[in-house]
Parts: sequence; C-alpha cells; structure tokens
Amino acid sequence: MSRDPRFDILFQPIKIGPVTAKNRFYQVPHCNGMGYARPRAHAGMRGVKAEGGWAVVSTEEVEIHPSSDISPYIEGRLWDDRDVPALALMTDAIHSHGALAAIELVHAGMNASNLYSREVPLAPSHLVNSASYAPLQARAMNKADIRDYRRWHRDAALRARRAGFNIVYVYAGHSLSLAMHFLQARHNHRTDEYGGSLANRTRLLRELIEDTKEAVGADCAVAVRFAVDELRGTDGITAQAEGREIVAMLAELPDLWDVNVSDWPNDSKTSRFAAEGYQEEFIRFVKTVTTKPVVGVGRFTSPDTMVSQIRRGILDMIGAARPSIADPFLPKKIENGDLDDIRECIGCNVCVTGDYTMTPIRCTQNPTMGEEWRKGWHPETVPPRSGDDTFLIVGAGPSGLECARVLGRRGYTVHLAEAGEHLGGRVTRESRLPGLAAWARVRDYRLNQLNKMQQVEILRGSPVSAPDVLEFGATRVVIATGSRWRRDGVGRAHSRPIPGFDASRNVFTPDDWMDGVRISGPVAVFDDDHYYWGALLAEKLRADGFDVALITPSDRVSAWTVNTLEQHAIQKRVLELGIVVRTNRNVVEYDGSALVLECTYTGRRETLPAATVITVTSRLPNDELVLSLDTSEAALATAGIVSVTAIGDCLAPSTIAAAVYAGHRYAREFDRPPSDEAAFRRELTDLASS
Ligand code: ADP
Ligand code: SF4
Repeated sequence: MSRDPRFDILFQPIKIGPVTAKNRFYQVPHCNGMGYARPRAHAGMRGVKAEGGWAVVSTEEVEIHPSSDISPYIEGRLWDDRDVPALALMTDAIHSHGALAAIELVHAGMNASNLYSREVPLAPSHLVNSASYAPLQARAMNKADIRDYRRWHRDAALRARRAGFNIVYVYAGHSLSLAMHFLQARHNHRTDEYGGSLANRTRLLRELIEDTKEAVGADCAVAVRFAVDELRGTDGITAQAEGREIVAMLAELPDLWDVNVSDWPNDSKTSRFAAEGYQEEFIRFVKTVTTKPVVGVGRFTSPDTMVSQIRRGILDMIGAARPSIADPFLPKKIENGDLDDIRECIGCNVCVTGDYTMTPIRCTQNPTMGEEWRKGWHPETVPPRSGDDTFLIVGAGPSGLECARVLGRRGYTVHLAEAGEHLGGRVTRESRLPGLAAWARVRDYRLNQLNKMQQVEILRGSPVSAPDVLEFGATRVVIATGSRWRRDGVGRAHSRPIPGFDASRNVFTPDDWMDGVRISGPVAVFDDDHYYWGALLAEKLRADGFDVALITPSDRVSAWTVNTLEQHAIQKRVLELGIVVRTNRNVVEYDGSALVLECTYTGRRETLPAATVITVTSRLPNDELVLSLDTSEAALATAGIVSVTAIGDCLAPSTIAAAVYAGHRYAREFDRPPSDEAAFRRELTDLASS
C-alpha cells in the first residue's frame, strides 16, 4: 500500500537547532529497566525503534553524577568517561537506521536516594528525600554546589556528544530533577538569587541551557523537557501561571521544547483514566510563546489525531513513549499505508512495571519488547517455518490468537478452535469493564492479521474435547483454554478455602458477574488479587446503585497498581464513589448474610453485612482438556501427534501480557532443541574492568 497524502505532513523533515529530524515522529525519553545494567539489550531495543521509522530516539533518564544515583532503579548512567561506550552502542544502533539519538541528562536531586553511591542527596533547600519513606534528607546546595552541578551537567553534555548523541536534554520534568526542584516554590525556599521570584527560581534552568549550548550547541540540539503543569493547583506549577511564564521567559533559548504534565502518573495516564491526546489542554499554549519546535505526548496511535495536532498548531512533532513500545514500526506503517497493521497501545502501563520492578521492559501488545537483543526477537519479522508441522490451537484468547498469528506468519498451517462464538477470550470480556475498552485492541490487532492469512483457519463455536484432539490430525497441539476465578477464597491470605464460601449461594466470582448473574446488595468485594479486578468491580457495582464494601488484606486498594502508576487514581475514585474501603482486613468466614473480618495486625474481629460476596483472590487453569488427554507416547503416536503443550492462563494464570508472550514464545521456540540454560542471552559483569 502507499501512503495516504493526508499523512504527508507527518513525514516532513524538521530542523532542530543544528540537526534535522527526517520526519515528525519523536520517541521521547522512557524508562525500560535495562539502562546502564543491560546496555546491549537497551541498544537493541532503541535500534529497533529507529528501524521502525522514528526520526528521534531518546534514552531514559541518564544520571550525570554519583550524587544522582537513583538505585535501585535502573536508568542510564553517564557519571564518567567509562560510561560512554555503553551508550555509544545505542547511538550506533540508532544512527544505523538514519535516526537522531537524544539523551536525557538528569540530576535527580532529592529524588536520588544514592543508595549505591552513598552521597548525600542535593536539593535547593533542606528537604526530605521524596522517592521513598527512607529516613534520608537532602541538603541545601550552596553556591559552590551549584557551580559543581553546572560543571557536572556540562561535562555530561560533552560526554554525551562523544557517545554520539545528536540531541542533549536539559530535564525539568516530572518533579524528578534538580532543575525542576529549583523552579518549584514549594521546594525552593532559598533567599539568594536562585530563590524567591520566578525569575530567580528559573535562573538555574536558564544557566543549564546556556551551559549546554555553549558546550555542545554547535553540533547537538539542546532540548528542554519541562512539565508545564503539575496538576496540583496553585501549590505547583500550572499551565495558566508559572508554567506559561517559564516557557515565555526561556522561549527561544533551547532548540526544542518537549512539554508534558507532571508527575509521572499524570504524564503516563492509563486508558482507564485518560483518552488519547489528554495533555492538549495543558500544553497547547506552548507554541504561542515560542518559535522553536514543540514535542508533546498523549498516547497518540491514530495518524488522524497526529495530523490534527500539527495542523491545529498544538505540536510540531508527535512525541510517543508507549505507542512506540507497543509498535516500534508505527511511523513506517503510516508511511507505507499499512494502517491495519498498527499495533495500538492499549494504555495498560504494563511497560511501566518493568521500571518499577527493576527488570527489563515488557509490553502487553508487543511481546518482543525488551527481547530484541537477548532473544533476537524482531517485532515485524519471524523466522520461516522449519518443517511440515500442522497445528491445532485450542482457545482464541490472547495466547491462542498470538500463537496462531506468529505460526501463521512463519508459514505454518494452523487451525484455531474456539468454543464460543466470540474471539478474544478474556480480552473481549474484560474490555467491557469500565475504562478498559481500549484493551480490545489486543484482540483486534491479531484478528486483523489472522484474517489476512490463508493458512490460518479459525473455527468458532467449536468446543474441543480429548477425542477431538486425537482425531484432528494436527502434528502439534497447543492448549490455550484460559482460566477461571476461584470461588473458595484461596489466594494470598488463604491457602485453604474460606469457611462458608464454597457452601454459600451468595458468593460469586468475577466470571459469574461477567456472565450476568443476578446479585443483591449490600455487596462485599474481597480483593486478595490486588490488581485491577477488585476495585473495578466495586466501581461498576457502585455505579449500578449497590452499597459496596471493598475489603483487602493490603494496606491500600489495588496495591499492585503502584507499578502501573494507577494506584492513587484508583483509590481516589473508589473513595469518591462512596465505596466503603476496609484495608488491612482479611475475610475469615461467611454465613450467607454477613462476613467475619479480621484485622491483619491485631486479629480483632468484626462482622460486615453482605447479601452478596464477590471474591477476587486467584484463578485456576482451565486444564480439563490437558488432563483428560491420553498423552502417553503410544496414544500420541497413534494420533500422529508430536507434542501437546499448554500455554498462557491455562498453564498458569497471569496477566494478558504474559498470555500474549506465552503464545508468541511458543510459536517462535517450539522447534528449538530443549536446553537447561536460560532461554536468553545475558549481559555478564566484565571482571577485567573497574
Ligand atoms: P489466555 O489468556 O491464556 O489466552 P483466555 O481465558 O483469554 O486465555 O482464553 C481462553 C479461550 O479458550 C476462551 O475464549 C475459551 O472460550 C476458549 N476455550 C476454553 N476451553 C475450550 C475448549 N475445550 N475448546 C475450545 N475453546 C476453548
Ligand atoms: Fe501500551 Fe500497555 Fe504496551 Fe505499555 S504495555 S506500551 S501501555 S500496550
């Protein structure tokens, strides 16, 4: 296909100071859990973005000095010259595809706990470390400290140029950098020329931009990343007041403005809480006060929205972190007119969980993310088939769909049998929950691809039994039949059934609720799962008019969603809806009309009336088909079957991301010889250097 001319504007080159971006697609800085610790994996990931057509590919935060050590988080590091080669791997990978490499230089100030370097954190004023509850304070910087900081930043810029970067950032975003802490009146209590008036608070940022331009500005563009609004009203920077004034004051100084809202949970809102383009109302003023190119983000996946951002004068370049993670080839696909092939980000923030858990990035939509180097996986190409196997895949949830897609791409004949009339399994069901409509993209992308493949046959309304499997005639059988929620309360808090749960007719699971079971109030939701289901169900039931109590053994609602940046927003919503929240409470018994709750600390008990209990604790694999199959060598040989493999939730229930990954992995690796070694390349510490 060829490009639709209405998207031509997206492919115009843009001059950024001394460098030129080949189009308007700009991968803004994003964390990835690889950073300094896994430089080859990092370079591989960024290189694939460049290959996919992004004109600019950025690093994540890159620490410039040991006093900006944000361990245990794994970001970039440019403390001294020895860090240059690792970053040069990345710039080489980016340049080899004709893209520009950008580096986000960061001194994290009081956000750096310095757990590794053991330096005392730095701040505009005496302040507590803001990254944790650690008993740790940052000290107020004196003038000599400010001079040191400016020198460290300048030296880091010079090293960045040596590493091959074309764009060097001064970072005042997300409330995560010294430059921003100086801007913020609530953090800057100084009485010298760096504190007090806005002009004084802006002095350091101005100096950093000037220093950077002076050091590398002849060859490198100098970008500023600035959060124009902190979404905390007049206690913070707002787009109407200081945010606007700061951009106006420095308008022509940098070569590019990369603008967003702060802090990170506000910047990277999930689709549950914000739609595409949600930052526009905050950042739209920027182009009215500067002539320099402006980049912004908003989980842009629609080329029409992108064009509209540019035509309406909101942005000059389309910034993206998550859309570039879900589909590194987004620009190329728009350029080639392959809009159907775009793998749109679903806005789930599973990608963020890698950074939060200090492990390599992963993505629900793109199972190859983070695996580019260590497994050699490419998001758009797969190895050709290695033999004449034919496949029966049972179950068309995310696992089965992805497995069929990749096997089909490899050129295999695949039969995908689904018991129901609807495809997509849990994705189809869960995307009906409030705020999760975009999750259906996991299904839709895969169905679009499968519909183009002659060699993949989809059989709807086809429940598969053990005799069916043996008679089918495929050489390999993949069972992706998913999972179901347990009704007995077994989960983290209980490893044995909760008394009364199995016996009661008033205890339901999320599956029962999805199936439309009739319930009566008051309703108690017991959430020992701690991800999205418990609070979402409570929210929906409350919206349907029920009195709802949400009970969790954790100290907060949906505790694991800290890792997806949603926890605060979820608990806020739950409280605002008038849902009764009982944290640190375990459910120990149910008599059909009231629950007995127990404090997880004191063991003190109380009763809570509940006409209905919805229990969200853990799931069991739908492994009946696997268990009922005679998988003895003789039986399989008679049926001509080489292997039977359970994948995804049917093997061990987990996230949708894990199910997609399992399907992808099977399709790529089923024909690899078994091995006891790690299934990926590792980056080992080089004992020769120090
Ligand atoms: P996963 O997340 O592992 O992909 P899902 O629960 O989303 O799992 O999807 C499993 C799919 O398998 C569902 O659509 C379900 O209807 C289907 N399924 C379950 N058992 C059978 C069976 N015996 N035959 C055919 N399809 C099945
Ligand atoms: Fe988007 Fe989710 Fe992938 Fe992140 S993990 S890029 S939010 S689809």
